[in-house]
Amino acid sequence: MASPSREDYLEAIWILTRDRGAARVSDIAARLHLSVASASKMVRRLDKDGLLKYERYRGLTLTPLGEGCGRSLAARHDVLERFLQQLGLRDAVHIHDIVEGIEHFMDAEALAAIEALLDLVQRDPAWWERFVAHQRRAANSSPGHSRVQTDP
Ligand code: MN
Repeated sequence: MASPSREDYLEAIWILTRDRGAARVSDIAARLHLSVASASKMVRRLDKDGLLKYERYRGLTLTPLGEGCGRSLAARHDVLERFLQQLGLRDAVHIHDIVEGIEHFMDAEALAAIEALLDLVQRDPAWWERFVAHQRRAANSSPGHSRVQTDP
């Protein structure tokens, strides 16, 4: 899979083909906030690598290989969004943006650990309430601030 941008393309194309049957280069470009020129360059590369089939008028569809990659990239994105929601983050746009930044660095081991955590929270929510209470106390003593300085 290699580069983050390839992953973003495959994820976007997977979502577009799932929702609309096929993806147009202009839709991919819009979704990724990129020019149509750079989107079509990447589309040609993914086509050459056997991840999708590009037909000028119909739009493009994923090959089984591209489909498999796209599906797991979208699943990875979802796990990370659920994790941040579980931590108490509420702003959906903000959550999405954070995940766009971190998702490329998550390997199978890290994801499996997060999924195990989410699974346990769901099966046994009581212990998570202790975390929530702890988090609330910490937030009350210094509202909205981390000990980590994130602004320059
Ligand atoms: Mn994503």
